[in-house]
Amino acid sequence: MKYKLEKPLHGEIGTAKYQCTISWRNGQFISDEPVSAGGKDEGPDPFTLLLSSLASCTLITLRMYIDRKGMDIPQISVNANLYQEIKEEKLVTTIDRDIVFHSEISDEVKNKLVEIAKLCPVSKILEGDTHIRTFVFKDDVNAKTINYKNDEITVDWKPEFCQHSTRCWKDLLQVFDPRVKKWINVDGASAERIKEQVERCPSGALSFRYNEDKPEVPV
Ligand code: SF4
Repeated sequence: MKYKLEKPLHGEIGTAKYQCTISWRNGQFISDEPVSAGGKDEGPDPFTLLLSSLASCTLITLRMYIDRKGMDIPQISVNANLYQEIKEEKLVTTIDRDIVFHSEISDEVKNKLVEIAKLCPVSKILEGDTHIRTFVFKDDVNAKTINYKNDEITVDWKPEFCQHSTRCWKDLLQVFDPRVKKWINVDGASAERIKEQVERCPSGALSFRYNEDKPEVPV
């Protein structure tokens, strides 16, 4: 398992309606709701962000293909919108994606480019089998904790908090191996790599410390 993003997307909201700060790999932007929904419209709303993802992925995929094939199509545009309706008691969402090639192209080329657009990665996500796993971070210093340590570091594990996301062991099996009883081997990778992995635990079950930073906690 390897995540698509090298750094997870991070979002925060306070009490200001409904300004969300979204941090991505290389900066931040604001997401908001339109005034009609009680926001200030200071950034794109969630539906707009979803459609932006599809539009940009479509455009990038087409540009890569067109350039690779040496076609003379300097400008492409995409409009995207969606509507929702209830059908047989299920919410059904339809996304319309309108593509304009600002060049004279044959029907054959146009059809091929439409096929390419349909294959863009975000199209595949939206039309594929997508699951959203939701984890809630817990923090309780009194929860039962098991320590795994060497001379340099200690990894603390709170079994009751573990939501079995599989994130730790799928990424770093040489350290986190659920097949063995003493399942965390702190000698299996560098301290920095283990720290990085522990920080990806979504539940608060894992925490990391350098031994000189804090007094040792008895097992
Ligand atoms: S990453 Fe955290 S929640 Fe997921 S399996 Fe490992 S310890 Fe449990």
